[in-house]
Amino acid sequence: MDQQFVAGRLRVARELGGLTQAALAREVGITPAAISQFESGAARPSPSTVNLLARALDVPVPFLYRELVETHEGFFRSLRRTAVAARRHARAVAHVAHDVAVHAGEHGRIYVQAVPQIGVPLGASRDVIEEAAARVRTRWDLSRGPVGNVVDLLEGHGVAVIRLPLGTAAVDAFSLPFVDHPVVVLGADKDDRARSRFDAAHELGHLVMHGEQIWGLKEVEDQAHAFAAAFLMPADEIWEQLPTAVDWARLFELKRFWQVSLAALLRRARDLGRMSPATYLTAVKAASARGWRRVEPVPLGAPEAPRLVPDHLRSEEGHELSSFLPVRVLDGFNEIA
Ligand SMILES: [Zn+2]
Repeated sequence: MDQQFVAGRLRVARELGGLTQAALAREVGITPAAISQFESGAARPSPSTVNLLARALDVPVPFLYRELVETHEGFFRSLRRTAVAARRHARAVAHVAHDVAVHAGEHGRIYVQAVPQIGVPLGASRDVIEEAAARVRTRWDLSRGPVGNVVDLLEGHGVAVIRLPLGTAAVDAFSLPFVDHPVVVLGADKDDRARSRFDAAHELGHLVMHGEQIWGLKEVEDQAHAFAAAFLMPADEIWEQLPTAVDWARLFELKRFWQVSLAALLRRARDLGRMSPATYLTAVKAASARGWRRVEPVPLGAPEAPRLVPDHLRSEEGHELSSFLPVRVLDGFNEIA
């Protein structure tokens, strides 16, 4: 192989397997320090060592030679709650999804990304975020009213979207802002269309407002939430429709129309000053007492399904993928898709 070993690939492969550097070193019969040097690029493994590493990690050898597009740690919510190992594993899987998108891009099957970049600084007012969301709607030619299908919309603009069982609440939806094909990962275990749409819009908010610039702060998460609300429920359209009192019949109707959760509607009503904080609190308590925080009434059906990455995996070209990507992860995508 005339290509060079790519240091970052070893880390991704190791995190896919959920191994520590020490565990991998034991498996391969070398020192943890050597693994550390291979991953940092301070030293390069011999071809025979690369073979041993690939076998221990259950990845094809060419996986360790492919170019790696790097980005930051990713937009994860609740960083403190999320175990580092779980986050790294999820992130490594997203890298594989990115590889699939790059491969699809080379075959002209996925557009290069066209997500507007509208930098929003820390400390920005809510109006600035509302404006950013409105600009994306305009840029993407969305008509007034609810967004039809958020996942389709993202895929149509070069974003690779996948669903993965992210397990409990440890890892929520997250995204990685690769410049060519950003990756959005949605939880497969949240069987709730309304919440899943909001998650997708939240990740879009990160890609639009934050990109490679800022991440890992609570305010950044709050901004993405505000963006999602504004994107899915434009203030000038929904303001008049939102109730000022706890009117469940009205809220159910709005949930069906806008395809957003009751929780999101209530919060929007409060944030836009349509509902007083006291009324909002009464509503949230009533919903909680009925168990609606876990399962809301007025189900909207199955969550929106990603198509581009799963379709590509099923296609003829998909077979080529297994020559350089870990089959076990690709199978995982297929099961969920
Ligand atoms: Zn986020």
